[in-house]
Amino acid sequence: MSSKVYFGSARQSRLDAKETLPAKLDLIMEQLHIRDRVKDEMVVIKMHTGNNIGYSTVHPVFVRKVVQAVKDGGGRPFVADVNWDTQDAENRGYTREVLGCPVYPAAGPRDNYYYTHQRAYKNIKEWKVAGMIEDATFMINLSHVKGHPSCGFGAAFKNLALGCMIGETRSQIHDTNHYDPYWFPEKCPDPKVVKDIIASCPFGALVEDKQNPGNIHIHFEQCNQCGRCLKVAPEGSLKIDAINFHSFQEACAVSTAVSLSTFAPGKVTHLSLATILTPVCDCFGFTGMPILPDLGVFGSDDIVALDQAILDMVGTKSLIVENVPTSLEIRPGPWHPFQVLHGPLKDPYKVVEYGEGLGLGSRHYELIDVLPVEEFSRGAVTYISAK
Ligand code: SF4
Repeated sequence: MSSKVYFGSARQSRLDAKETLPAKLDLIMEQLHIRDRVKDEMVVIKMHTGNNIGYSTVHPVFVRKVVQAVKDGGGRPFVADVNWDTQDAENRGYTREVLGCPVYPAAGPRDNYYYTHQRAYKNIKEWKVAGMIEDATFMINLSHVKGHPSCGFGAAFKNLALGCMIGETRSQIHDTNHYDPYWFPEKCPDPKVVKDIIASCPFGALVEDKQNPGNIHIHFEQCNQCGRCLKVAPEGSLKIDAINFHSFQEACAVSTAVSLSTFAPGKVTHLSLATILTPVCDCFGFTGMPILPDLGVFGSDDIVALDQAILDMVGTKSLIVENVPTSLEIRPGPWHPFQVLHGPLKDPYKVVEYGEGLGLGSRHYELIDVLPVEEFSRGAVTYISAK
């Protein structure tokens, strides 16, 4: 069965406020009946408030529109994000005065207010959901679409998977990359060769394992799977393997499933702003140049359909090569633009594949444009005599 995904294009027909993205966000919220669904609900607006001097997180104008819709419907809204991002959120314009509602650290200022859920996945035995998320009775997942060094891209799934958990669980999600072995020291007994392998990576992705000196540790975020190290490593000693990359995505799907399970059916909806698509996530504390064209705003009750629709639309675009930081290596291939940037094993579709497998939604969707862009036809410019 297909799910509805509402979309408002970044492109306008006319130079008119009614055709801009905040206005299209309103149209999408109408389609999702947000005002009708939030009466007396304690509504958490989960967003990434960024940190440091980033300015590409969801602009306060959009957040205020969501807050207003919740208030119109008789709900009690608040914005929540992880503590180290909310502690200086005012630097990026996220204050009660600007947004019209409070901004809370999701697990309290010391990140120690949470609920524990048992569910085994690789190195993770229990998931610690931030208390302010689980205490809310309705959630609006308001995400920003961008690239991501661990999994190629981040949007609706990523916003919940990492942002609804406390720091301890977020670290464990990142550590899933290391669960399946990739370094086999018995196949490389010569310490000089180990040093040569480490030196072969031009991205600093290979380092000596701090806990296990003499062994290799991969920083998967920096690895674009170019294979240079494999040309130096003795056969079988080092693996650059899909399982290590995909486990982060699967952990994101499981984490999202855990957070969503704390809400009653129909009490979560998802909105995503696909503008200023930076190469890496908003955690970096700065805003890079956009590496893809602005797409617009999306909304759906189905998180799987939403991220699938976003990825499909991004897939029709090409990287803005002149905006890609020169430290990154573009690897053209028959891949999604986010894989061209971060490497083919960082398949951005894995999270929706795993999410669908967990019953979180459908990858089949109907895209409904809430205000289609009109094309104008004009007669040719010809000579008109002045009489
Ligand atoms: S595959 Fe390339 S980027 Fe990855 S660790 Fe090896 S040399 Fe570095």
